[in-house]
Amino acid sequence: MTTGMEMPEQPRSRRQTRAAILTHLLQSGGSFRPPLAKAVRLSEASLSRILFDLKAEGLIEEVRRPAPYVGGPTGLVSLDRTVALAGLELTGQWLGLGVGGLSGELHYTERMPLPKKPTVDSVGRVFGEALALLRDWTRRRRIRLAQVGVAVPGLGRLSEFGNPIIPCDVGRIGDTFGELFAGVPVNFTNSVVAHATFHRCRTENYPFSDAHLFVFVGQGVAGAWMDDPIEDDALDPVELGHMVFGADGPRCRCGHHGCVEAYTSLPALAELLRITEAELVRLGSEWVTTIPLTSRVRQELRQRLFRLGLAIGNTLNVKPCRGVVVSGWPSLLTEDDRKAVIDGIDSCLLGGRKLAQVSLAFVPPSVGNDPQAALAFAALCLTRGGGMPAASTEAA
Ligand SMILES: [Zn+2]
Repeated sequence: MTTGMEMPEQPRSRRQTRAAILTHLLQSGGSFRPPLAKAVRLSEASLSRILFDLKAEGLIEEVRRPAPYVGGPTGLVSLDRTVALAGLELTGQWLGLGVGGLSGELHYTERMPLPKKPTVDSVGRVFGEALALLRDWTRRRRIRLAQVGVAVPGLGRLSEFGNPIIPCDVGRIGDTFGELFAGVPVNFTNSVVAHATFHRCRTENYPFSDAHLFVFVGQGVAGAWMDDPIEDDALDPVELGHMVFGADGPRCRCGHHGCVEAYTSLPALAELLRITEAELVRLGSEWVTTIPLTSRVRQELRQRLFRLGLAIGNTLNVKPCRGVVVSGWPSLLTEDDRKAVIDGIDSCLLGGRKLAQVSLAFVPPSVGNDPQAALAFAALCLTRGGGMPAASTEAA
């Protein structure tokens, strides 16, 4: 394509155009009209007409601000702060729930502990109690939820045969939603997709705006292909955590031995540091300064990061991609220690990292900030649907 040429305007439905505008506002945190028109490939007059509708529907707000360029004052457009979303995030220890806004504001949060050995029934009960709390909280304040997002670890192709990580029946939970929140759209997703969405929408200067691989190192290790979120096939989870690196390795929760997850997940890190997983989660980002690392532990950490790099490199061999974002405990280490991830990618990526032109960025861990990721996902569901009611509940 000729440099500087505008992309031809493809025919888009009203929903798609609204989705492009709202999703751009979600990811940018707000925009003046001229750059917004350019970003969503609309004339300012067409944009004006759609913004008028979105404002009337209470989805956006606009404040007059001096623009930082020639042309004088214009409107700074952002998502409306009064839209209420709910997020529920299932973790190894608890179910986090909360109500928040489109720009990341939190109005209410709660954590419901899970039983030590959760079953489909007991997890279903915790969800039931959480939804009852949520209904009471919103009713007392006369708040109508615009969208609910639910993040479940490991949710994906296998979920119809039972969730392999934390047992839960999303179909049944969806029915409970329907009973308590009739007419409110609810979307379930894999936790990695929710965390990827959280970072993409809530990180200032997020490193990539085009297609990339997001790798999440938390209770599990997983990836998500990230693309323009308004495309149908954007946000696909990829189970890179279960690549096996030695059949005699540690047992993984998936039932196999030697998966990269069994070496690099938070539980595996806790074991290496000789603390409990709960303690590690409680320490959050502090563990890296609180717990002294012996040279043996540091060497072992680097070896594990190297395996993580191999898993990422192999994933890129299957589906080439220019950018990788890693979120999780590796992001807290020094550049020197993190180099092991890059070495791992280099040593298995066909052609090496330089030739494949892959750039790698680390973003802070988001474990323990529940239900922020589920809320970010709810916000994205609303914007990518153009803020219009969907025909039915669907998985993202
Ligand atoms: Zn596994």
